[in-house]
Amino acid sequence: MENLYCLRCNRELEAGHTSVAVYMFAQTVGIRPRQKSSAQRICFCPQCSVSLAMGPPPEGALNIAAWNMIRDLVGLDPALTARHGKACEAL
Ligand SMILES: [Zn+2]
Repeated sequence: MENLYCLRCNRELEAGHTSVAVYMFAQTVGIRPRQKSSAQRICFCPQCSVSLAMGPPPEGALNIAAWNMIRDLVGLDPALTARHGKACEAL
């Protein structure tokens, strides 16, 4: 199993535990055959996902795109905010 770390706090994310993964890849448009870059996976622990989503928008177009995706997820899934509360109690 590959070990994943939260991009923001560097906490190790164990397989099967709640986390938010952002996938990114780039692709050429208007050229045939299309070329695709390899996909990158960026992970955030629930605490960081929630605090990022609640926080102000970051700088940079790519960061804002990722921030919007995380905000969507945090808004959709109350489990993330619930984990956030529980994990804070456990710390
Ligand atoms: Zn984190």
